[in-house]
Amino acid sequence: MSSASAPPRVEEVSDGVFAYIQPDGTWFINNTGFLAGRAGVISVDACSTERRTRDYLAAIAATSAQPVRTLVNTHHHGDHTHGNYLLRGATIVAHEKCRAEILAAGLPNFGGLFGDVDWGGIELAPPFLCYDDRVTLYSDDLRCEVRYVGSPAHTTNDSIVWIPARSVLFAGDLIFNGGTPFMLMGSVTGAIGVLAGLLKPLGAATIVPGHGDVCGPEAIDDVLGYLRFVLDTARQGKAAGLSPLETARQTDLGQ
Ligand SMILES: [Zn+2]
Repeated sequence: MSSASAPPRVEEVSDGVFAYIQPDGTWFINNTGFLAGRAGVISVDACSTERRTRDYLAAIAATSAQPVRTLVNTHHHGDHTHGNYLLRGATIVAHEKCRAEILAAGLPNFGGLFGDVDWGGIELAPPFLCYDDRVTLYSDDLRCEVRYVGSPAHTTNDSIVWIPARSVLFAGDLIFNGGTPFMLMGSVTGAIGVLAGLLKPLGAATIVPGHGDVCGPEAIDDVLGYLRFVLDTARQGKAAGLSPLETARQTDLGQ
């Protein structure tokens, strides 16, 4: 967790629709977002630590006097869900598998993976309004489609939040903008199918990625290019009789 990164910032990507961008977008430095309606706020994801989530809630409060009434989790990863417990009073919404994975993961327990992190007083707060396929939320009269992507991709339980009238897509971690996409808990092949078959056809003009700056649809092609490169590299390594590690070490990463 680099203390040299710029502070988080709020960007209004469409009227009343905000992205909360946390530089530099590396592991566990995620983006969230919120819709500020007259009758309440809908939040898309929380943050990784107590402090980061409290900062996020302060940013919401500086924008809207309304409480967060609904919290959507795009997937179970702790950077998007550890802070759920601080959104007291909100209905926490996610795919059924997202709830199961949050409960299975439990409290932060990453060994030395992230060094000495002050997670704060995190309490488990799993989603308790769960869907199998999709659910529709309204921010005032603005329709927001919360859709399970249908197959393993970034994880086993990825959902997107799509706002057709504004052509705004909250992509969760299906899109990393400027960072290496992470598929270790999902499926590379599945992610290619989801990006090419679901995300691209939406035709979103504005994408709030799970990590990195707000972007346009070109980010989908960037991630697809990387995922296809990984698969091609794996096929070539296997054909050459190399182990995955040998293949990785011999690979020219290029772009
Ligand atoms: Zn993730």
